Amino acid sequence: MARLPYVKGEYKVMCDICGRVMYASQTVFNWKHERVCKQCWEPRNPQEMPFRIPVEKRNVPNPRPWKLKEEPSLTDWNKL
Ligand SMILES: [Zn+2]
Repeated sequence: MARLPYVKGEYKVMCDICGRVMYASQTVFNWKHERVCKQCWEPRNPQEMPFRIPVEKRNVPNPRPWKLKEEPSLTDWNKL
């Protein structure tokens, strides 16, 4: 343990990453709730927090049934 002078209201802690001993006010908690020094702190990778892609609401522009109820006769097609 490193020798740190007494400071009122402070207490010694150890960095969970590098193991250096320092005052508690010089450390922070990271996203894994580890007490780390400011040199060892790094933000969480954004790829670990995937977001949901919203479902695209795309409708068929002109929906029609697969089969017509009545088959058009050849004469009907010629009228068009
Ligand atoms: Zn550290």
